Amino acid sequence: MSDPNEPAPRPRFTPLIERLPSTTPFVGPETQERVRGRPFIARLGANEHGFGPSAATRAALAAAAGQAWMYGDPEGFALRQALAERLGAPRERILLGEGIDGLLGLACRLMLREGDRAAAPRGGYPTFGYHVAGFGGRLETVPYLAAEPGAPDRADPIGLANRAAETGARLLYLANPDNPMGGVWPAEAVRAMIAATPDDCLILLDEAYLETAPEGSAPPLSPQPPNLLRLRTFSKAYGLAGLRIGYAIGAPRVIEAFQKIRNHFGVGRLSQIGALAALADEDGLAQARRSIAASRERITRIAAEAGLAALPSAANFVAIDCGRGGVFARAVLKTLIEADVFVRAPGAPPLDRCVRVSCGPEVEMDRFAAALPEALAAAERGAESA
Ligand SMILES: *Cc1c(COP(=O)(O)O)cnc(C)c1O
Repeated sequence: MSDPNEPAPRPRFTPLIERLPSTTPFVGPETQERVRGRPFIARLGANEHGFGPSAATRAALAAAAGQAWMYGDPEGFALRQALAERLGAPRERILLGEGIDGLLGLACRLMLREGDRAAAPRGGYPTFGYHVAGFGGRLETVPYLAAEPGAPDRADPIGLANRAAETGARLLYLANPDNPMGGVWPAEAVRAMIAATPDDCLILLDEAYLETAPEGSAPPLSPQPPNLLRLRTFSKAYGLAGLRIGYAIGAPRVIEAFQKIRNHFGVGRLSQIGALAALADEDGLAQARRSIAASRERITRIAAEAGLAALPSAANFVAIDCGRGGVFARAVLKTLIEADVFVRAPGAPPLDRCVRVSCGPEVEMDRFAAALPEALAAAERGAESA
């Protein structure tokens, strides 16, 4: 408790910053390792690409190491040009940023005054809500739709559009495919959401996992609705999470607005070089897709062998339904962590009945497979004694 007679610590921060919680949702595996005093034996919690970047990408990065003394091109010209050619969209519609996470923060800064609303799925990707709070915005959350045969719980696109309309939201956030559940909507459902969203609301369509999704999950890039911003990344299928590079595709007017606030030297030189090499390496991406698809199947088998149902996933991870609610799933998660297997779990009910396991190499899958039955048994013992 602060003593009212004590003067407030100086310097004072803005009222908004004074109000924000000091805890963040981002406790990294490195922090957990330091606290535990030992390393993880399987790193399956952050949806990284455990198979690593392609050989060609690694070679390009190694060859460029000596250039690290130079800033990257603040216009990211070569990479934006390559993306423009690949996507068939003009370069003026493409913006580079420090991963999708960085771009989400800028989008909030662009759109939100204190008290403004932002619509997002309840229990969805937490970084969006973190940035909304950081700019004083108010999150309007919409529950996921319940799982149905062949699909996990999915964010509700029309529910989000309606909520944005009802509350005058300035931002609407949807990840397609979704994190943490792995579900995906076909392009048609996303288009219906775009059509139902007021034109004064900027739609943030997070396509971090598009490369691992079925064909037909993304609406075409043209026509470009003026209020649609799509966010993509080199962190997931391309395996470059450590380089912090992603991009946005939007209307030229919206991309222009980011020029007023973005960190112009924020995307490093090696990040641009690595992303350019990864983009050019189509075989590398195809190989990554195959590895991820095989790993999703492996996780599904491991779950089935332990008597659990894995939810169908279009992403590079699988949510496993532990079958007995959030308390039980948290106990499973805790025992997996104690067994040195780094995984995570969705934060909000009813999604929190699951643990989320990232795709990764077979040796890590073996370690997860070995640890899961004991984690379940320990959670069951805990449930009985409670
Ligand atoms: C992993 C993830 C991101 C992070 O992307 P970066 O480009 O690494 O910042 C963004 N959105 C979703 C839905 C993710 O799962």
